[in-house]
Amino acid sequence: LGSRLFHPEDTIIKLPHSEIGGNTFTMMAGPCSVESEEHIKRMAMVAREGGATLLRGGAFKPRTTPYSFQGLGEEGLRFMREAADELGMDVITEIMDETHVPMAAKYTDVIQIGARNMQNFSLLKAVGKTQIPVALKRGLAGTIDDLLNAAEYIASGGNHNIMLIERGIRTFDNKYTRNTFDLAAVPVLQKLTHYPIIVDPSHAVGAWDLVAPMAYAGTASGASGMIVEIHDDPAHAFSDGAQSLKPDTYLTMTKHVFALKQLM
Ligand code: PEP
Ligand code: MN
Repeated sequence: LGSRLFHPEDTIIKLPHSEIGGNTFTMMAGPCSVESEEHIKRMAMVAREGGATLLRGGAFKPRTTPYSFQGLGEEGLRFMREAADELGMDVITEIMDETHVPMAAKYTDVIQIGARNMQNFSLLKAVGKTQIPVALKRGLAGTIDDLLNAAEYIASGGNHNIMLIERGIRTFDNKYTRNTFDLAAVPVLQKLTHYPIIVDPSHAVGAWDLVAPMAYAGTASGASGMIVEIHDDPAHAFSDGAQSLKPDTYLTMTKHVFALKQLM
């Protein structure tokens, strides 16, 4: 169902305040985790100022260890929804379990399926039964075909509002970067599928000073949008501080990204 052969035209996903796909370029930004009501409101203002039409933030966090911050849960979703509504933004947030689907329906515009859950087939089937747009992240060791097949689990349930996110893949050299950003995957996926392809330079590199260069490269790759992590006090971020852009760096980065997109 995701194949270009079956459906040659680009899928365009329409949200209340954004359009994703084709030649548009959609910016999504926010902290890795929703940390407090006040913090997400402040970060939403920064995100918006940089041209983001979607606010990101995790309320259910897939942490590597169970002893790390796990997210604020439903309260976090409520804080993020309010912050986005005040600024006329859409919300993208991760759910980790099929039991979260009703909550997602209540609070979010886009359901993010994290890299670690790319092949959580019961979760994919559950979101496939809704009409809520889904952003499916490429798994840590997921091939392009694995990603496309995971998307089929959603589409075959009847939900065709799917976008795919390249967020870097597990690599043999993770001393300087967290993952290897597979930018060739963007044009490859665009050849194979009609779904919007989004890049996530933050999780791909894991280090804030590498995010802007890879954001430019991601834009040049032809992606339909970008998702990026921001924080005003990265040293004290609840998660992923090392890769979070401070507001001034983010604002400069997005200015260049939109200028670059204009040239394409
Ligand atoms: C995130 O977006 O914060 C996240 C956990 O991403 P990924 O699933 O790509 O690791
Ligand atoms: Mn993160």
